[in-house]
Amino acid sequence: MYNTIVYERPDEKVARIVLNRPESRNAQDTTLLHELNDAFDKAAHDDSVSVIILAANGPHFSSGHDLREPDLMNKLNDFRPVGTWSNFGAPGAEGWMAREKELYLGFTERWRNIPKPTIAAVQGKCIAGGLMLVWPCDLIVASQDAMFLDNTVSMGMCGVEYFAHPWELGPRKAKEMLFTADWMEADEAHRLGMVNHVVEPDRLESFALELAMKIARKPLFALKLVKESVNAAEDAKGRMSAMQTAFALHQLGHSHNMQVHGLPIDPAGAGAFVKKSGSE
Ligand code: ZN
Repeated sequence: MYNTIVYERPDEKVARIVLNRPESRNAQDTTLLHELNDAFDKAAHDDSVSVIILAANGPHFSSGHDLREPDLMNKLNDFRPVGTWSNFGAPGAEGWMAREKELYLGFTERWRNIPKPTIAAVQGKCIAGGLMLVWPCDLIVASQDAMFLDNTVSMGMCGVEYFAHPWELGPRKAKEMLFTADWMEADEAHRLGMVNHVVEPDRLESFALELAMKIARKPLFALKLVKESVNAAEDAKGRMSAMQTAFALHQLGHSHNMQVHGLPIDPAGAGAFVKKSGSE
């Protein structure tokens, strides 16, 4: 029933959602994000599911948002809106912001607040928008070959739309990651507390499942309450208002690039494919 993801039940209390566009390194197009949102809802609403694993097929977790998607700006009109922002086809900053509010910040924040424990199992490269899939999860298990990157500053942008960098890495490492656009390896992400466990690549799937099954044996309502309590602690420290400020500045960055380059990102740092496709 899904084209870009797989929904599995590896255990009676565990659901596993697997990104399944390995030919494009699991680039996130509009369909994939909607199918992912639908699958998260399905797992959240299924009372027999206690824990949700997010994994990916292929050598890489995700190359980020799919900038090659044809007719990008009109794609959202094919789907029923999930949030309350709409008018995705509006000209100028309005349509662009509405699209990112729905598809990026809206979806990721929604997934972050699913009341059931979520575990990301990450291998290979996890780039920019890829971070927006793993950071909203409660726990992150990384394969030794996992690498994390936010290269948006190179594209004239100020970080991905789900601006959790300072919360995930601390302010200094967040700035370094963004300023340099260097790769962060699994071991360093683990040392900084962004990743819970680093495991051998062939143990990634089994380790994540064992962790999920251990958690799933606990009373689900207690899990929900403790998740909400930790999330509330982050929010009491200003997470959401800081993230909303970053999102507003992110929209300023897109508008600036539109005025200067005629594109929402600076094509000089975005690689040849953007110029070639002309989709962004
Ligand atoms: Zn954006």
